[in-house]
Amino acid sequence: MMPDKCSVSEEGKQCVNPPQFIVSIVDGKDEYMFGLTCQKHRHIVTGKLTILQDEGKIHSGKISFTPVKSVGTDCIHGDADDLVQIDLKKSN
Ligand SMILES: [Zn+2]
Repeated sequence: MMPDKCSVSEEGKQCVNPPQFIVSIVDGKDEYMFGLTCQKHRHIVTGKLTILQDEGKIHSGKISFTPVKSVGTDCIHGDADDLVQIDLKKSN
């Protein structure tokens, strides 16, 4: 099932906004789903994933945002357990 919240947490507090975009990375023909974000955190998520890509921790490729409403939940690949929890603490 899809989580019903944005994947971002700030200072350990989960964002409670409903997700508005599915965050995925498009690498050639493959697309990897990474999480969900609200409009407010969209830019933050982009920055965070860019850093993770630079560090080689996630797939390289184009970061893509798909509006949740345009996608039937049946069509979403990936499992909620695979989603990245995006923590904005600056510890790393
Ligand atoms: Zn959020």
